[in-house]
Amino acid sequence: MYQKFDVVIVGAGGSGLMAAMQLPNASVAVLTKVYPTRSHTGAAQGGVAAALGNKEEDHWKWHMYDTVKGGDYLVDQTAAEVLAREAIDAVYELEHRGLPFNRTKDGRIDQRRFGGHTRNFGEGPVMRSCYAADRTGHMILQTMYQNAIKNQVRFFNEYLVLDLLINDGRACGVVAMEIRSGEIHTFHAKAVLFATGGYGRAWRVTSNAFACMGDGMAIAYRRGIPLQDMEMYQFHPTGLYKVGVLLSEAARGEGGKLLNGKGEYFMERYMPTMKDLAPRDIVSRCIIQEIKEGRGVKGNGIVGDDYVYLDVRHLGAKTIAEKLPDITDFARNYLGVEPLTEPVPIQPTAHYAMGGIPTDIDGRVVLDADWTPMPGFYAAGEVACVSVHGANRLGTNSLVDLIVFGRRAGKHMAKFIQENDFVPLPSEPEGFSRELVSRLLTSTGGESAANVRSTLQNEMNDKVYVEREEKGLRTALDTIDGLQDAYRRIQLQDKGKNFNTELMEAIELGFLLDCAEATVHGALARQESRGAHFRLDYPKRDDANWLKHTLAYRGSKAHDVRLEYKDVILIDDPIFKPKERKY
Ligand SMILES: Cc1cc2nc3c(=O)[nH]c(=O)nc-3n(C[C@H](O)[C@H](O)[C@H](O)COP(=O)(O)OP(=O)(O)OC[C@H]3O[C@@H](n4cnc5c(N)ncnc54)[C@H](O)[C@@H]3O)c2cc1C
Repeated sequence: MYQKFDVVIVGAGGSGLMAAMQLPNASVAVLTKVYPTRSHTGAAQGGVAAALGNKEEDHWKWHMYDTVKGGDYLVDQTAAEVLAREAIDAVYELEHRGLPFNRTKDGRIDQRRFGGHTRNFGEGPVMRSCYAADRTGHMILQTMYQNAIKNQVRFFNEYLVLDLLINDGRACGVVAMEIRSGEIHTFHAKAVLFATGGYGRAWRVTSNAFACMGDGMAIAYRRGIPLQDMEMYQFHPTGLYKVGVLLSEAARGEGGKLLNGKGEYFMERYMPTMKDLAPRDIVSRCIIQEIKEGRGVKGNGIVGDDYVYLDVRHLGAKTIAEKLPDITDFARNYLGVEPLTEPVPIQPTAHYAMGGIPTDIDGRVVLDADWTPMPGFYAAGEVACVSVHGANRLGTNSLVDLIVFGRRAGKHMAKFIQENDFVPLPSEPEGFSRELVSRLLTSTGGESAANVRSTLQNEMNDKVYVEREEKGLRTALDTIDGLQDAYRRIQLQDKGKNFNTELMEAIELGFLLDCAEATVHGALARQESRGAHFRLDYPKRDDANWLKHTLAYRGSKAHDVRLEYKDVILIDDPIFKPKERKY
């Protein structure tokens, strides 16, 4: 079926919906593979950062400084400035659209502490995170979805986008499969925004929803668009042991502490100033260090199955019930642990992609180190890399990225569609997608998708985790090469058209493999340690050689990856000059 809209937005998470809000006079379609309010944004617990200064003095420049330093200087500083400055207005926009934030006694938006956010350029923690209990993302989605319905945005729920259409160097639409019927649809548009989220499912232990399979990144990558800084993948220190479900940093913001197997609050030893609220990459490494030095708690003896605890017992029942209701329930429901009386077993969990499709500060996708834009193609949110998070994202800085850059992309598209007409579709627009589907439905290769997926997830968890080294990365690369071959032999049991979830999962698995491939290539090449990318064989940051972004391009076939590099944008202000990162 053929449909035509001014703008097609793929993804109904915070970034997609925020963009949709900016297009009141356009015809807008939002395509989403899950029901909009089930997007992963709904799982965000902790809050959204903005220097409102409601609880104590704060400034956007302090926020910018923390973002740049937290990202271990792989941050484009002009983008970080936009993030920190516009965060304030974007949060007020959410408030005015009806988001029920927690309030201070005098009725303003309440704020709390979060890892890495400081006052006066690193002096000590500051209250910057605006929140709605531990359900901030849920509230963002509900509020924005209602606003989108009010604004007549057309939703295509349970449509799986398979391909980006490009003609004459311009994006002009997408092809999607309607999950209910298996029917293929072409959406013709003047502008396309990818807001498809991350790819945490590439790891065995992850905080990410089942839908976080890297779709948008892989679709772009297959069409010759590079992926930037994919080796920069964040492991959140406090995932529930084994299941990976997130216990938000809000628990530590409220005073929760990490405890080792010997009953010591160990973060004080590593980070005397920020303690448990040091940035995530550092806290994750401290946990691994405790475990390596024999102060973890033994799991069931499988390598990597040791853990430490998150202790919130001292916060008391009232604070826990008011500020951390959901995450304490997770501990009860998934592990049978009572956080009021017992410490909760935790381990670092795959959480957030700092890398993704490279964009400029207006959400325009750029194709190379010279910032050449692809007209009509935009990306925002976790799928994008506008490079505000650099090598490590601070907590609460993703939700703000979604609303600031989702909004900017939406506003830019509003202008673009006024100034540009439709370009014709390429010939046989559905060819690639139909072939992808029919190959999977007709294959008799005998390979199981579940097998390919679990091998990938185990390999990534074992070798592309908090600490990396050349040998492990090379092995992981060989494994992924083998899995790309195995993928072509996947055979499905269900050959039907209606709600063929086996087919859908196999398609998504292909996306995941491509994202993992770019991640490992980037990680192997980057011979330094920076932010979330810690190389045991190159433990120091190396600004002389590596203060640059990785661009991974897919070659003519699956295993063939070409890496190029792009300068990091620094501004001329001594306070933002790359320094050693000590807290
Ligand atoms: C458990 C958890 C807690 C978090 N807590 C916080 C927090 O407190 N503060 C913070 O700042 N950040 C937090 N984050 C990070 C943040 O929530 C995410 O980075 C962010 O919500 C991603 O939003 P998004 O709009 O980019 O995409 P998502 O919300 O992931 O939405 C992706 C959308 O794309 C659609 N989609 C994907 N692929 C396709 C396809 N092929 N076809 C059609 N549709 C597709 C999906 O259906 C969905 O609608 C948290 C993340 C997790 C996992």
